[in-house]
Amino acid sequence: MSENCIFCKIISGDIPSFKVFENDKVFAFLDINPLSKGHTVVIPKTHCERLEDLPEEYSSAIGSALPKIAKAVITGTGALDWNLLQNNGKSAGQEVPHLHFHIIPREKSDGLGYRWKPT
Ligand code: C5P
Repeated sequence: MSENCIFCKIISGDIPSFKVFENDKVFAFLDINPLSKGHTVVIPKTHCERLEDLPEEYSSAIGSALPKIAKAVITGTGALDWNLLQNNGKSAGQEVPHLHFHIIPREKSDGLGYRWKPT
């Protein structure tokens, strides 16, 4: 865990969040600034900035958890469609330097278009 990392603090409970899922290696919570209802952020419970640096045991755990979390999110929101988004580095739009996956429920009328950040 990294002392000044917002997402490490969410995992430890020092910063409150609306938890969606947790096991020994993965944590998921509702995005504080959602792009759509149910927008969920999925993170490893180890501090790691980028996908290429994620230890194998955590990538396996996230790979296994993502479909289950996505199913819960679409069941809970009633949205059939959704985006999986993951940014690596500032040029790619990563704002929080703790690896994370966005699950973004989608509706035809949501106005988000086919890119995560609307222009
Ligand atoms: O991929 P990127 O780094 O831009 O996404 C960070 C996400 O983390 C944003 O969608 C932001 O709303 C979310 N966030 C959050 N809770 C915080 C800080 C950021 O859900 N306390």
